[in-house]
Amino acid sequence: MIKDLVQDEAVLSVPCEPATADDAPVAQDLIDTLSSIEDATCLAANQIGVTKNLFVYRDDNGQDHVMYNAKILMGLNAAKTYESCLTHDDPVMVTRFAKIKVAYDELVDGQLKSRRRDFTGWVAQMIQHMVDHSKGKLV
Ligand SMILES: [Zn+2]
Repeated sequence: MIKDLVQDEAVLSVPCEPATADDAPVAQDLIDTLSSIEDATCLAANQIGVTKNLFVYRDDNGQDHVMYNAKILMGLNAAKTYESCLTHDDPVMVTRFAKIKVAYDELVDGQLKSRRRDFTGWVAQMIQHMVDHSKGKLV
């Protein structure tokens, strides 16, 4: 279901609780809502008012990926960049790693499975932005 975006910093600045397999409907709402916004490529659950630790990002092939409880284990090659946000007005200067190692859960057959993967470039940047959202950190 397409949800309204939350702009309220009081909601966005609350650190999210761990997500579980029961949050699968939230994942679908994230995908539906992301798809409804032109040029949007990632969306965290608290941006649609659900303070659970999950988000969706869309890769360069237009494929949506949902990550539950993502944690950045390691980052390489930090650089400053300007980043904009769907629920924030102006682009902000942030420091992002070019390459990251991420631990996260993926929903497989109704169960969360632990995964570990390396990401680079644009996808790595989106994941860092989303992990910040899940911590209640605003750019
Ligand atoms: Zn954002």
